[in-house]
Amino acid sequence: MGMNDIKRRDAQYVAHTYARFPIHITEGEGSVVTDDEGKEYIDLGSGIAVNTFGVCDKVWQKAVIEQLGRVQHASNLYFTDPCVRLAEMLCARTGMSRVFFSNSGAESNECAIKAARKYAAQVLGTDYTTIITLKNSFHGRTITTLAATGQDVFHKDFQPLTPGFVHATPNDLADLERLLNENRCAAVMMELVQGEGGVRELDAEFVKGAERLAHEHGALVVIDEVQTGNGRTGKLYAYMHYGIQPDIVSTAKGLGGGLPIGATMFNEKTADILGPGDHGSTFVGNPVSCAGAVSILERIDDALLSRVQAKSNMIRTALTGAPGVEEVTGLGLMLGVKTARPAGDVVAECMENGVLVLKAKDRVRLLPALNIPEEQLQKAVKVLRAACAPKE
Ligand SMILES: *Cc1c(COP(=O)(O)O)cnc(C)c1O
Repeated sequence: MGMNDIKRRDAQYVAHTYARFPIHITEGEGSVVTDDEGKEYIDLGSGIAVNTFGVCDKVWQKAVIEQLGRVQHASNLYFTDPCVRLAEMLCARTGMSRVFFSNSGAESNECAIKAARKYAAQVLGTDYTTIITLKNSFHGRTITTLAATGQDVFHKDFQPLTPGFVHATPNDLADLERLLNENRCAAVMMELVQGEGGVRELDAEFVKGAERLAHEHGALVVIDEVQTGNGRTGKLYAYMHYGIQPDIVSTAKGLGGGLPIGATMFNEKTADILGPGDHGSTFVGNPVSCAGAVSILERIDDALLSRVQAKSNMIRTALTGAPGVEEVTGLGLMLGVKTARPAGDVVAECMENGVLVLKAKDRVRLLPALNIPEEQLQKAVKVLRAACAPKE
């Protein structure tokens, strides 16, 4: 299908919820994707932080294909190997106690919210239902995770949303404390780097303080690591930068390396809150997705994480102070670039010149594969740097 053809048919048959870039991706290898005319792009977006080791990574592919040759789905009525192995690995690497698998980020948060509500009802009282999230946050597109999302633009056409969510100002402990005092709270839930909100990392002091205040009020600390998780920020999970111990961690995007999977991890305190019949989903714990995730997680070791950090430093050094670059934010290979030019223009110019970057709010967002070859990264950053420079 050529560009015009696919564009017309997409417009006719696919719901109009996405503003797509005019690129028809047909294949790829590693951090390079190819369009229908054979033009190559260095991909600094990884399908929104999903393709952890790029496109068609051989090790991941082998794990997935091997599992496809055994059984592709069994349902949660039976035991399967990859699901248990993945849960065991996640617990060993985080110190969490148990995992519920799901299919997406929104679902992993939905599970976290259900568990927090049940915990609070059991431990604090049935009126302890409020969940505090942060302004400018993003937690998903279901009616409940939209309610959790602290951005009005996502809310307006979908009222009434699930009640029981209030939004605190990021990095403002006094505001959080006020909300904890004014409401009977089940949990404080936050992203440590607000991804969709413009790649804004929270202050360490705020995060530590939020953990302390939440626990003083008996509320749980829920960390949404859907985007920040799985090595993205230079640690296995972003909370590991902050010296906190969450009660619940949700993750998704990069965990499956390109196949849909989400996970909600519970610590000792929350491990037994959800019991038989409390939660479930037909597709979850899918052996193929889990086999892919096991192979991804096995390779996110200290050596890889230190290379993620080195690449992050390289990007920051190249962009900080460059003409038209006002600020670089984020952690690891999750970076936001505030540009003097409109971010959309910078994205378009990069695309023209063979580099795919994303946007988040008014910023250019970078989420390259964790194993992007240094040479490709340098080449792409050069293109981005030139695109940021103010035009006559
Ligand atoms: C992407 C994202 C979600 C939603 O994940 P889906 O897989 O799109 O449902 C939730 N929280 C954060 C922080 C995200 O970045």
